[in-house]
Amino acid sequence: MKGFDYLQAELNEMKKQGTFRTLIPLESDQGAKVVIDGREVIQLSSNNYLGLTSHPRLQKAAIEAIEKFGAGTGSVRTIAGTLTMHKELEEKLAKFKHTEAALVFQSGFTTNQGVLSAILTNEDVVISDAFNHASIIDGIRLTKAERKVYNHVDMKDLERALKESNNFRVRVIVTDGVFSMDGNIAPLPEIVELAEKYDALVMVDDAHASGVLGENGRGTVNHFGLDGRVHIQVGTLSKAIGVLGGYVASSKTLIDYLIHKGRPFLFSTSHPPAVTAACSEAINVLLEESELIERLWDNTKFFKIGLEQLGFNTGKSETPITPVIIGDEALSHQFSDKLLTYGVFAQGIAFPTVAKGLARVRTIVTAEHTKEELQAALDIFEKAGKELKII
Ligand code: PMP
Repeated sequence: MKGFDYLQAELNEMKKQGTFRTLIPLESDQGAKVVIDGREVIQLSSNNYLGLTSHPRLQKAAIEAIEKFGAGTGSVRTIAGTLTMHKELEEKLAKFKHTEAALVFQSGFTTNQGVLSAILTNEDVVISDAFNHASIIDGIRLTKAERKVYNHVDMKDLERALKESNNFRVRVIVTDGVFSMDGNIAPLPEIVELAEKYDALVMVDDAHASGVLGENGRGTVNHFGLDGRVHIQVGTLSKAIGVLGGYVASSKTLIDYLIHKGRPFLFSTSHPPAVTAACSEAINVLLEESELIERLWDNTKFFKIGLEQLGFNTGKSETPITPVIIGDEALSHQFSDKLLTYGVFAQGIAFPTVAKGLARVRTIVTAEHTKEELQAALDIFEKAGKELKII
C-alpha cells in the first residue's frame, strides 16, 4: 500500500457499513436551538446543561478579561503563564467542591491523563469501572501501574479486584461520577465503603455531574453526602460550566504534587484570560442562579418520560443524559440523520464510543429548552422512530 492508502481503505469500509461520519458545523451559537445548513433545529447533542455557553454574564466577563489582560498568556503556568485570575478560579473551585485546593488543566481529558499518570507507578494498582471515559482509559495507559477493570458498577467485582490488590503500595479506584453514554450515576457510597475497607484511594470524574448534581451542582460526591471521603474529584469546565478546561479538586498535597508532576499542566500553555474569567463567572452563576439547575431537572423528567411513553429504550439513565438505545450502528446513524431532517440534532453514537450492538442516539436536554421545544422534539422522535420501525 502507498502512503495513507491503508487508512483510506479503513475509511472506505466505514462508508460501506454506514458508520462514516462527517462533522456538522453549527452556524449559530450553542443553545436550545442551533442553525445547521441554514435551518434552525432543536439541539439535543450538546453538554451545555445550563445554557452557560452564551450566558450574558459569562460573555461580559470574557470580553472584560480580553480588554484588560489580552487574548493569550504566552506561557505555561509554571514559567510565566499564571495570572492572578487563574489562582482565583482555583480557589473558587476548591471552595465549591469543599476541598483544600484545586488545579486547572487545559481540558477534562488532560486532567484525567495528568492526574493518573502523575500519581501511579509500577508499585501501584488502578482499579477502573469498565465504562469509564476514554480519558481515564488513556490516562491509565500512560502509567506503569497494574490495571484491573471491574464490571460496570458491579460492587462484587470491585471487591474481588480490591482483594487481589493487597500487595501494592497504593490502590486507586477510579470511576466516572455520571457515565457519559448511559447517564447512570456511579454507586459512590458503596465504592467509598469498599475503599475504606480495603484502604484504597477514590478518584471520581464528575464531568457530567458538576453543575448538574449536588447542592448548586457540586457533583456526585456532594450529592451523596460524601464530602471529605473521596480523595480526588475531577471536573470539566467544558460542559455545564459552558467554557473549556478541566480541574482536579483534592488535598493541598496532591495539588502541590501535580504542579510539579502533572505533565499536561506543566507542558501546555495556560488558559487565556477570556476562558479563565468566563469559568470563574460560571461558578458565580451556579451559586446565584440555582433556578437553572431546577429547570434542567424539570426538563429532564419531562423529556425522559416522553421518550419512555413513546416506547423508546432509554436504558438506565438517571440524569439529563438520556440515550435512545437502537442497537444496530447503521440504523442508529440513519435515525439520527432522519431526526436532523425533521428538525432535531441528536447524534448517533456507536463503537468504539459504546460497545458493539449498543449503538444509540444520545440526547441531553438543557435548562434552556422550553417545554414546547421538547414536545416538538418528542413528536419528531415519534415520527422518525415509526418510519424506521424502531417503535
Ligand atoms: N470525562 C468524561 C466523563 C467526559 O464525558 C468528558 C467529555 N467527553 C471528559 C472527561 C473530557 O472533558 P473535556 O471535554 O473537558 O476534555
